[in-house]
Amino acid sequence: MMNFYAEILTIGDEILFGQTLDTNSHFICDRLTEIGVRVLRKTTVGDTEADILSAIKDANDRADIIIITGGLGPTNDDLTKPCLAKYFDCPIEINEKALQEVSAYFERRGREFTELNRRQAELPTACEMLSNPVGTAPGMWFEKEGKVLASLPGVPHEMKYLIENEVLDRIKDRFELPIIYHKIIRTCGIGESYLADKIRDWEDALPGHFKLAYLPTLGEVKLRLTATGTSLKKLKLEGNLLMTELSQIAGKYIYGYDDESLESVVGELLVKKDLTIATAESCTGGHLAHSFTSVPGSSRYFRGSVIAYHNDIKKEQLDVPAEILEKHGAVSEETVTLMAENVRQKLGADIGVATSGIAGPEGGTKEKPVGLVWIAYSDKNGTEAKKILFLKDRMFNIQYGSKAVLTNLFRKLTKKD
Ligand code: AMP
Ligand code: MG
Repeated sequence: MMNFYAEILTIGDEILFGQTLDTNSHFICDRLTEIGVRVLRKTTVGDTEADILSAIKDANDRADIIIITGGLGPTNDDLTKPCLAKYFDCPIEINEKALQEVSAYFERRGREFTELNRRQAELPTACEMLSNPVGTAPGMWFEKEGKVLASLPGVPHEMKYLIENEVLDRIKDRFELPIIYHKIIRTCGIGESYLADKIRDWEDALPGHFKLAYLPTLGEVKLRLTATGTSLKKLKLEGNLLMTELSQIAGKYIYGYDDESLESVVGELLVKKDLTIATAESCTGGHLAHSFTSVPGSSRYFRGSVIAYHNDIKKEQLDVPAEILEKHGAVSEETVTLMAENVRQKLGADIGVATSGIAGPEGGTKEKPVGLVWIAYSDKNGTEAKKILFLKDRMFNIQYGSKAVLTNLFRKLTKKD
């Protein structure tokens, strides 16, 4: 089976100055890998003709497919088009189809179509124009000596549109790509090394054409199972069997697959069980409520949140007695337990969850260091609190605190604790 190789070239001074994070290449790598193209390298150059040209030539020596983003604006600092005209040895002329589409874009928005905008429709004559209905700069597709090059706008949503709607299909038509199978298995509540220990025998016994990668992110470890073969149906069957085996070993930690998020899986469980939830947040300051409400349809189960940051609010809004706060402190089992219980009752939810911790960087003591977070879960059967020690920086402690609550909830709702 032949492998085909790609390189990605992102263009723009703003990326090299550290003002813009190159998210485009991340997206393109993901999509190319998914269709079975091997990405060899990604390069970033500034808005300089010599650098752009040499990067294209170098990439062309190694790769079959080159994807370029950026440098397609109508202003003089955007140089991709003149560079491509030079590289493919052709003039730049008005492309009639591009002119129609770009002027229609401005008309739809009731905006004036200026001379500068007209320049967006000028393209190197060697390219095929790629329609961009979501922006003003058309994409370009070039083919030469068995290799292809796509040049796309830098604006991420325009680049994404063109990759999904124009570029991937052209690559699939043009190259006979291997059949590739990908599955992401999402786990929570277990660290990478513990998970690796747990599933070692399963991993060692994987068939040779399957590969496993560990992708740890905040409070989660994703396992990516990849395989190549000649029949997708056969690979899926093999993959399903492997995942059944895996869930027998580590099912307690698996919360979902592919694009599912922990908050959406927890949300679905709440809907299925016809339960509602409320949050009382101290150290997470609303981050947990945001995690819940970022899921479409969360109004079916999310009642609301009390951000009880100051002790006054813990007392006044959540009825945590002053004596408890004085005796045990805000960051304590006693306080977080009452927060969870009382928010459940006050907000009329079936489940109450709470956080109280020391996010840092200041405020830690020997007994209660930065990164100490108490979380609690309360339902009609009772309330349980857990102590967690993160010892990281502020944003990490906040995000991890929310994730710990969601992980705990997942376990409770699936009875996996
Ligand atoms: P351009 O096509 O060079 O005019 O780029 C337009 C805008 O897209 C820039 O101002 C950046 O904000 C954004 N952009 C360009 N390249 C990238 C990239 N590689 N990743 C994310 N955003 C980008
Ligand atoms: Mg630019």
